[in-house]
Amino acid sequence: MERKILAIFAHPDDESFGPSGTLAHYARNGVRVRLLTATRGEAGKNALSNTDEPLGKIRERELLKAAKILGLEKVDFMGYKDKTLQNLEPHPPIEKILHYIEMFKPQILITYGPTGISRHPDHITVHKWVTQVFRMSEYPKKLYYYTLPKELLLARHPDLVDGDGEITTVIDVSSYKNVKKSAILCHISQRYSIERIFDFAGGERPIPEKEYFVLADHKLDYRIDGIEDDLFCGIESGNKTPIGKLL
Ligand SMILES: [Zn+2]
Repeated sequence: MERKILAIFAHPDDESFGPSGTLAHYARNGVRVRLLTATRGEAGKNALSNTDEPLGKIRERELLKAAKILGLEKVDFMGYKDKTLQNLEPHPPIEKILHYIEMFKPQILITYGPTGISRHPDHITVHKWVTQVFRMSEYPKKLYYYTLPKELLLARHPDLVDGDGEITTVIDVSSYKNVKKSAILCHISQRYSIERIFDFAGGERPIPEKEYFVLADHKLDYRIDGIEDDLFCGIESGNKTPIGKLL
């Protein structure tokens, strides 16, 4: 079985700030990993003062550079306008994602949980689209929400008591800290966000050793008992041997 992961996010940098250690880990272990990004992030702040180039162009290039570092097979853009996703009629983007999935046939989908981590309306909208698409297509077997440990999420947003749900899956990305950092630093037009979130200079908020996920939905005869350490747990290979640990 050819293992495939599709990550779907709203903006260039969401993949690098988010589950980039996990994406790099799987890409380096023979999994075909693709990224579908809804916008080019053109409505963000631009930390580069010495250019007239449109921000969307800059951010597209930054994302492609980060994707190369992470080992992603392909990046595709849905082409929607930044900061407008919640105003769109959901049917066309859902159809677009569905079509993409039917072509690529990934076993694993990754997106945000209901909090969107930052509560950005674009993130929450993509979360809703992908959650709906998962149920419409037979191909993806597991749907993961990338999230943070609840105390971190609540520290940022104290009213988010339910967070993104209980963490089911923890991926050790300690070997990918440099890769993650390099991918994050590709998004140099977003330097203010990088400094706010990661503090590379001060070292108080270092790159995390682990990345956290909620298995939000699946189509397997499968029950989690404990914490998964592999997104492919419970998905059978061609010879019917489960990949990873079936808990
Ligand atoms: Zn974003």
